[in-house]
Amino acid sequence: MLNSLKGLMLTLGSTMKGIRKPITQEYPKKPTPVKDRFMGFPALTWDQDVPEPFCTGCMVCIRNCPTQCMSASMKDNPLNEEGKSSRRKIVDYFEINLNRCILCGICVELCNFDAIVMSHEHEMSTYSRNGDRVNLPELLKIGKKYQSETDWIPPSVIEKQKNESEDVVVEGN
Ligand code: SF4
Ligand code: SF4
Repeated sequence: MLNSLKGLMLTLGSTMKGIRKPITQEYPKKPTPVKDRFMGFPALTWDQDVPEPFCTGCMVCIRNCPTQCMSASMKDNPLNEEGKSSRRKIVDYFEINLNRCILCGICVELCNFDAIVMSHEHEMSTYSRNGDRVNLPELLKIGKKYQSETDWIPPSVIEKQKNESEDVVVEGN
């Protein structure tokens, strides 16, 4: 008798669950929001103050990319010649073949110029083999979107602020 009642309660419980609001998302109609620290495809950042890309085309990320999916070139920076930018060299050409990118983040870790980020973009599938070869304007567009959505602050600025606050604490002791 007791077992029958337990079974009945279980059935009733399952039935009630069935009329609850569904917790599934209608992806891809309603994209699932990603977390702040989500690492999507790499993108290039834009220096609002100058304005120009942060990237100098120094090739450090390109030499160290494990899948060799990036290429770039640099040029003399005309804004430096005009005294408007401290960057003597600036990126001229940049391409990432995102089909080959493994989202490892090594390029971001190694960049000394705050020039590359792991954006939140991840829905970039195409039907063609090389359909995700992304050029400089497109990489900057993705980067700018990421910067505005996340209120991005260059890592070197964060590091500087951290060091300054630590110095204040040491002086206070
Ligand atoms: S993203 Fe950074 S490491 Fe890569 S080429 Fe540009 S400045 Fe150099
Ligand atoms: S995330 Fe990794 S694989 Fe992708 S471009 Fe950067 S270094 Fe290369």
